[in-house]
Amino acid sequence: MKEHIDSETLSAYLDGCLETAQLDRVLNHIKVCVICAGEVNAYVKVRSVLKRTAIKNMPLDLAADLRLAAAKKFTEQPWWIQWRLPQYWVPATGMAISLLVWGWWMQKSFVSEDSIPLETVLAAHHRYLDEGNLPVTDLTADGFSARLASYEETVE
Ligand SMILES: [Zn+2]
Repeated sequence: MKEHIDSETLSAYLDGCLETAQLDRVLNHIKVCVICAGEVNAYVKVRSVLKRTAIKNMPLDLAADLRLAAAKKFTEQPWWIQWRLPQYWVPATGMAISLLVWGWWMQKSFVSEDSIPLETVLAAHHRYLDEGNLPVTDLTADGFSARLASYEETVE
């Protein structure tokens, strides 16, 4: 016989919380395994007994005393413990700080004083194209190279 079905899976089976493949595996197993079928029957009996048991409410004075004791214990703690954030904020805050530092660092590392602001150059280029200020001869590669060479001579 293969391995028995673990108690958690059997409990999930009784709660109707299994996926189809897992449900088929459990159903096929408890058909042939007396031990697991017995465990399922035991769970069913416990469940039926618990359903028949009357629910008793907590006495109101006990509930009030417990709330008072909890509130008193809370107010006796220092303020930094009373108002601290839940533990899941620690990794979330760490991740947010890491992303901010990474983003700042990436921005700083890609922008140098020698770099050309490409967006500005492209915007100016498209504006010149739209306004028709670029001579057609400058739009070909040969014309561009000649124009660029003339700029370099002018700058020096
Ligand atoms: Zn079994």
